[in-house]
Amino acid sequence: MSAQHRHSLEALHRRQFLRASGAIAAMALAGTGALSRIAFATVLTKAERDKLSPDEILALLKKGNERFYTGKRENHDFLAQQRATAEGQHPAAVLLSCIDSRAPAETIMDLRIGDIFNCRVAGNVENPDILGSMEFACKLSGAKVVLVMGHTACGAIKGAIDNAELGNLTGLLAKIKPAVAATTYSGERTSKNYAFVDAVARKNVELTIADIRRESPVLADLESKGAIKIAGAMYNLKTGRMDFFGA
Ligand SMILES: [Zn+2]
Repeated sequence: MSAQHRHSLEALHRRQFLRASGAIAAMALAGTGALSRIAFATVLTKAERDKLSPDEILALLKKGNERFYTGKRENHDFLAQQRATAEGQHPAAVLLSCIDSRAPAETIMDLRIGDIFNCRVAGNVENPDILGSMEFACKLSGAKVVLVMGHTACGAIKGAIDNAELGNLTGLLAKIKPAVAATTYSGERTSKNYAFVDAVARKNVELTIADIRRESPVLADLESKGAIKIAGAMYNLKTGRMDFFGA
């Protein structure tokens, strides 16, 4: 065996060891410093979460989505994560996303058990119970990011555009309708036009963020002090990519 061959084998073994130990992130994300080192640790500890800034947490969520849509998802040991979080949790963020089966936040951001709180409701609109959940997540539990995530081709958005009526769904869709009216769009304003549907979904995220700031003095106060950040994103069902607003 040539010295060069032996050297490359050693490098391969070293990579395998690093992957097994979870330290591959330090190589894959070289240059991002502390973020990369904690990215694939077994679970998020309180100390790790507490030293992250809201912007660093958003960067981690974005990186996780990049791993998802590039097919470089981490090899999760969910049972190890389950055991490690059984006695306590220190989530870094609270999400508000749609119930759509194709937009599961933990999967599309390659997250671990214990990384985020997750509120889901059709059309990702807020209400007092969701605000209460967010206030618990941030003020009492220490999460530093509130992320509202809409998605393309959203059935709830289409229902609001079409003025669909059904039992309790009518009242839910009424909360989305202001976004339909507020969407500036010169083309066909119907649920058949996906460009319009997606423009309304984006506007709906923006309005929901504004609603959260207005309806929750607790969260607005945390944000004004820089303790948390309230942010938005749109998930594209076709590409698997999340578009983080302003990022
Ligand atoms: Zn949806």
